[in-house]
Amino acid sequence: MKKKITYLGVFVLTVFNTFTQQSILTAQNVTSEPTAIKRKCATPILDESFETWIADKIQKQQQFANEKKAVVVYNIPVIFHIIHTGQAVGTNANVSAARITQQLNTLNADYRKLNTDLNTYLTQPSFVAIAADCEINFCLAKVNPTGGVLTEPGIDRFTVASKGWSTNPPYTASSSYLENTVKAGSIWNPVKYFNVWITELNGGVLGYAQFPTVTAGTTPIGDITGFGGAANTDGVVVDYKYVGLSGATGGAYNLGRTLTHEAGHWLGLRHIWGDDGSACSGSDYAADTPNQAGENYTCPTTNGLVRTDACSPTSPGVLYQNYMDYSDDRCMVMFTSTQKARMQSVMANCIRRNSLNTSTVCSIPTGIDESSSISEVELFPNPSNGELNIMVSLVTNDDYSITVINTLGQVIKQLHFSNSNGGKSTLDLSSNSQGVYFVTVKTKSGSKTKRIIIQ
Ligand SMILES: [Zn+2]
Repeated sequence: MKKKITYLGVFVLTVFNTFTQQSILTAQNVTSEPTAIKRKCATPILDESFETWIADKIQKQQQFANEKKAVVVYNIPVIFHIIHTGQAVGTNANVSAARITQQLNTLNADYRKLNTDLNTYLTQPSFVAIAADCEINFCLAKVNPTGGVLTEPGIDRFTVASKGWSTNPPYTASSSYLENTVKAGSIWNPVKYFNVWITELNGGVLGYAQFPTVTAGTTPIGDITGFGGAANTDGVVVDYKYVGLSGATGGAYNLGRTLTHEAGHWLGLRHIWGDDGSACSGSDYAADTPNQAGENYTCPTTNGLVRTDACSPTSPGVLYQNYMDYSDDRCMVMFTSTQKARMQSVMANCIRRNSLNTSTVCSIPTGIDESSSISEVELFPNPSNGELNIMVSLVTNDDYSITVINTLGQVIKQLHFSNSNGGKSTLDLSSNSQGVYFVTVKTKSGSKTKRIIIQ
């Protein structure tokens, strides 16, 4: 086994109790106070070396912004991997396309400060002033990694059995099985897609995220130890009960903001109270968020109520309205300006984040396959232990290439053929790490890409 997986930077949101007898909560229905539900993260803290690195990036970004305001609205293609065990579409974990669309709309509203509930709870003027449009958009992927058009945009819907996995959900957050078998065995190229897995999680966990990372040797830190994680597990896992406008099954977390919060981690944000228990010493490294003792739960029973604690004992108090707190979905309504700066710096500088902005998978390419001379590409065995056979059939003789890339987009192997109508090639990939790779056969008129797994 050659794969090395890092689990640092994994966050977990937990619900302590079941949702029995929960009333349906909406943004308008603020009188039903949930008492049985508690959101929680099991929090390995983001390494301090990340702060040294990103502080430098934020400073450079702000210098640039002061000299010449360049509005950068980043675009992030999303693929939702819906993992189920044969239920009808719309039943339990096999969530409907409508809920996926709602979830995407929630992300876009929250990250563009277009959420209509912004001022329901957020009334303190100093907090209203720092609520930010983060200038990050999300789009549903329209094509899969082989270039095929998705029948349901943004959705990769499959059964556990179809993958040959031995264990059905619920899965344990950040467990080896969920990381190495489920996520690694179903991830789409994280250079091009923001991978979100929808499944059932053990222990009332709502979801968890993998932090961004940077390339080894990046200054001012010398390595990537302490944050981020492997390419083949990069993304967010959300329990199906909290996806989109989930109604009664989501309890107090039924507005799709579990993914807003987790995507915040995935873009480098820390919890707003600084993950220091109830002390006033920890920091979220966002200068405009007030010092906060611990996490906040639920919502005040009165809209706009000021909450104070030992670290911010006077008005305007603590910022329980922030997406990176533990409040109920209906009163977490904003990111701050410095949280935005942090996420923008991650989008500009982190591998598997900056590449997403130029990914074209949210558009359907036109004309490529129609004009291609490639009639068939077969890969076997798949999964493979390293020796891979590639059978190519071309309509007519042509020059073509076979290229194998890893999930970072790096070329692993490349072969060139002249004036050929195809045939079988065998590649030895056994010296490469376990995981997902992409094989592209290309002629001058088009290309076909297929995904393989080396195990
Ligand atoms: Zn969290």
